[in-house]
Amino acid sequence: MTCRANKAILRHKNYICHESEGHDPLNSCLPLPKCHNKSQMTQPSFDYLIVGAGFFGSICAHELTKRGKRVCVIDSRNHIGGNCYTEERNGIHLHMYGPHIFHTSNPEVWQWINQFVAFNQFTLRPVANYKGEVFSLPFNMWTFAKLWNITTPQEAKAIIDAQSAHITQEPQNLEEQAIKLVGTDVYRKLIKGYTQKQWGKDPAELPASIIKRLPVRFTYDNNYFNDTYQGIPIGGYTQIFTQLLKGIELRLNTDYFKDELPTHDQVIYTGPIDKFYDYRFGELEYKTQTFTHEFKAQVPNYQGVAMMNFTDVETPYTRIIEHKHFDPVDLPHTWISYEYPVPYKASESEPFYPVNDTTNNTIYAKYKALADQEPKVSFGGRLAEYKYYDMHQVIASALAFIRNHHP
Ligand SMILES: Cc1cc2nc3c(=O)[nH]c(=O)nc-3n(C[C@H](O)[C@H](O)[C@H](O)COP(=O)(O)OP(=O)(O)OC[C@H]3O[C@@H](n4cnc5c(N)ncnc54)[C@H](O)[C@@H]3O)c2cc1C
Repeated sequence: MTCRANKAILRHKNYICHESEGHDPLNSCLPLPKCHNKSQMTQPSFDYLIVGAGFFGSICAHELTKRGKRVCVIDSRNHIGGNCYTEERNGIHLHMYGPHIFHTSNPEVWQWINQFVAFNQFTLRPVANYKGEVFSLPFNMWTFAKLWNITTPQEAKAIIDAQSAHITQEPQNLEEQAIKLVGTDVYRKLIKGYTQKQWGKDPAELPASIIKRLPVRFTYDNNYFNDTYQGIPIGGYTQIFTQLLKGIELRLNTDYFKDELPTHDQVIYTGPIDKFYDYRFGELEYKTQTFTHEFKAQVPNYQGVAMMNFTDVETPYTRIIEHKHFDPVDLPHTWISYEYPVPYKASESEPFYPVNDTTNNTIYAKYKALADQEPKVSFGGRLAEYKYYDMHQVIASALAFIRNHHP
């Protein structure tokens, strides 16, 4: 009888279960007797089964193949690229899982990715729309000048200091952190409603760490990122993955937990770690959203900017993305996407942004302790490491993983 309590663990171990359901398969399932263990009788078809064709999986596949390993990549989606997947529609490259701006200060990563694609000079300068009033993002002197009709950093600082004077201790939550950084006016118009929509929680219930990612500047510099290198791949992201996976066995629409798998020795798993362990310590929380893509015929320029954030709580979507501004093309039409935050349900939703608060990090630590014991499975990437990784960090982590395991 095969244990169904934790298919994931058993799939790569050739285990047999002698117990009824509901037990701990790690402790009570026994390895199949030698004569029944197919992978020991014949050589497995692949040295590595890589679960996920996003950055982590595709880089590992590429680098391991270069080192002579036999690799098979599977992905449950019908395309490569993970969340960085872009699709060309009417001559415009759409970021199908939300806007992806490449930015890094890591020269090794920048050099590495430039082997595969040329970047344009796109710089993220988003606009906030609060009930029809527009403001510059990230918070900078343009934002403060418009809000308070002032011109100097000294004036802006004085207003913020006055509005945040009541936060005397280390901020305990996002609301306090935000008010400390930018005062109550900015918080009320540009942060509160947006955050509430995005996270489905009152900002006072969210960790302060989330807002620490937002740059606040007392200069007239509205470049969202501080990194040395920034841009969008000319022609979209998907071509990077096509090159990485060239000549490698790829099986799309193939779910690690549901579908037939080729025989293999090792696994590199880049899906959600809690799912791998059948949620035995509970579900890890993610923030997620859905997208509605809309073609605008005979509209060459819909909103004049790639990203507009709608910061009031009443507008149901958080952002409108106009894709042609990422990778400019002179066309008489455009494509826009609305982003709608939706509650996360582990079995149904796309896990997008890890919620790294104390509760979730504690659960993750338990999964990580199990993962560290796995002799034949490695975990990497945003979902398997439950880390708020941007692309450059996943690339650095995948390259480091390969360096450490296959120097
Ligand atoms: C909305 C959004 C916006 C973002 N914007 C930026 C940005 O502007 N700049 C930036 O640097 N980063 C951004 N990121 C982060 C970036 O997407 C990630 O850093 C990167 O995609 C992570 O790569 P990965 O390989 O770890 O995971 P993923 O890209 O998530 O790939 C994991 C793959 O595993 C597959 N998979 C999962 N479970 C299974 C299974 N059971 N069987 C088979 N396949 C499975 C999934 O289908 C997926 O394709 C953004 C992320 C999101 C969600």
